[in-house]
Amino acid sequence: MRRTAFYLPTMKDTPAEAQIVSHRVMLRAGMVRQCSAGIYAWLPLGLKVLNNIARIVREEQDAAGCNEVLMPTIQSADLWRQSGRYDAYGPEMLRITDRHERDMLFGPTNEEMVTELFSRDVKSYKQLPLNLYHIQWKFRDEIRPRFGVMRGREFLMKDGYSFDVSKVAAAEAYKRVFISYLKTFKRMGLVAFPMKADTGPIGGDLSHEFLIEAKTGESEIFYDSALNDLDIFNTDTSDAAALDQAFQTLTAAYARTDETHEQGEFEAAVPELRRRTARGIEVGHIFYFGTKYSEPLGAKVTGPDGAEIDVHMGSYGIGVSRLVGGIIEASHDEQGVIWPAEIAPFHVGLVNIKVGHEGCDAGCQQLYDALRSKGVEVLYDDREERAGAKFADMELIGLPWVMTVGPRGAESGMVEVKNRKSGEKVEVAFDKGLELVMANAPRR
Ligand code: ATP
Ligand code: MG
Repeated sequence: MRRTAFYLPTMKDTPAEAQIVSHRVMLRAGMVRQCSAGIYAWLPLGLKVLNNIARIVREEQDAAGCNEVLMPTIQSADLWRQSGRYDAYGPEMLRITDRHERDMLFGPTNEEMVTELFSRDVKSYKQLPLNLYHIQWKFRDEIRPRFGVMRGREFLMKDGYSFDVSKVAAAEAYKRVFISYLKTFKRMGLVAFPMKADTGPIGGDLSHEFLIEAKTGESEIFYDSALNDLDIFNTDTSDAAALDQAFQTLTAAYARTDETHEQGEFEAAVPELRRRTARGIEVGHIFYFGTKYSEPLGAKVTGPDGAEIDVHMGSYGIGVSRLVGGIIEASHDEQGVIWPAEIAPFHVGLVNIKVGHEGCDAGCQQLYDALRSKGVEVLYDDREERAGAKFADMELIGLPWVMTVGPRGAESGMVEVKNRKSGEKVEVAFDKGLELVMANAPRR
């Protein structure tokens, strides 16, 4: 993509309304613009990042055996009256009346709708287990929308729902998603901490929030430093015993600092030298809730003996749009974002120091074509702008690599290659430079 053809309205000044780094950077880097309180338009650069996150989530959900669907944003109030949540949900629900005076709502979540869909077509235990997910916009009329996309009113969520014949089978489904979430966040360059969460009236230990480390995070936790080296990701999740073993190891390795009993368990399991604390932001939440929705909505299957069973369900959320801010909170410096390779909106930034100079133009064109022919995404800054302004923008938008061609280098076929994360710069021949940036490049 040529910068002259790409809609990227960057800003030099720090917007006064933004209180945290990710919000400031997202505005300055031209990723989003606020339309109403907690409601954002995604501009091309931000949308590319959002789509990359959604793609990773989708690939890992599919790998875990989940089925993608797409349910509507607008739902009927009657469905929510059946579960009893229409009144219980309170003022966070955006209620709408259509022209026939029918009560509708903008979905804050989809338990009722997915349960109703399921009950229409699934009648036998033989059709289970099943896990349906979608990636869809939600609306929650948050009392205090803040921190940009981190706590919006309209936000993009992956929400998945599992259906099983028994609590035992549902727990297995839960643990499978649990492991798949850790893989998902790892691919985004993040270390995610699963933390026990309140299960409410259902009880049990099957609810976890997933936090990613960020200094500005709302919650503080303890974790086992050795965990980062554990090879849990190769666990054979089709083997129930192995799955449970991995789950037990992982859940013992974290504790909330404000929960004394968890601290006790943690200290019993983890030697002192390996204990660490971190602050985190919630980016995912998973939950087993038994027959809470299947009973009132009539989602039953016939078991092997012919008797009817209320299906056991769980729900599994990932804050896709929140992750954009969360990743920036976890990975930035004074100059701007430092994108992990799989998330970056482009893999390479190409800076032409002197547009109009024959050698610079030809050299840049050569590199641009070479990268594109290999499927490596590149943003070519071909504007007639000061070099300093171009570099500052590249640092701000945080692409993993920046290649720079100036008049002197162009003559001898040399390019400067800079790694955004380490800050290391080398001056090398074009071929070598291309080799360097392509080594870990996602191809699209
Ligand atoms: P929180 O405790 O932050 O209010 P929640 O517990 O209400 O969130 P869930 O219902 O568990 O949220 O939603 C699943 C995921 O959706 C959360 O882990 C979070 O990543 C994301 N999410 C929830 N609310 C918002 C919001 N207002 N803006 C952006 N993302 C959100
Ligand atoms: Mg939550």
